[in-house]
Amino acid sequence: MHRDWIKIADFAFYLKGSAVSDNKTIEQEYKTWMCLICGWVYDEEAGLPDEGIAPGTRWDQVPMNWTCPECGARKEDFEMVVI
Ligand SMILES: [Zn+2]
Repeated sequence: MHRDWIKIADFAFYLKGSAVSDNKTIEQEYKTWMCLICGWVYDEEAGLPDEGIAPGTRWDQVPMNWTCPECGARKEDFEMVVI
């Protein structure tokens, strides 16, 4: 009986563990993108409310015609950076 209880607890822990790792896969971390021309950084978590880009907006959801607020560079001139 005691053994069975441990098995169930282990199984529950296993399920919980896999659920956590699944969440990590689905919920990707916010990224930051840096302008290669002037060094200005776009932070997905912060967005760019001044330009109508809501906080949490992913880089691929930023409009194609958007340009760097500092130097006017296009999205192609940005590179993902890890801060
Ligand atoms: Zn720039």
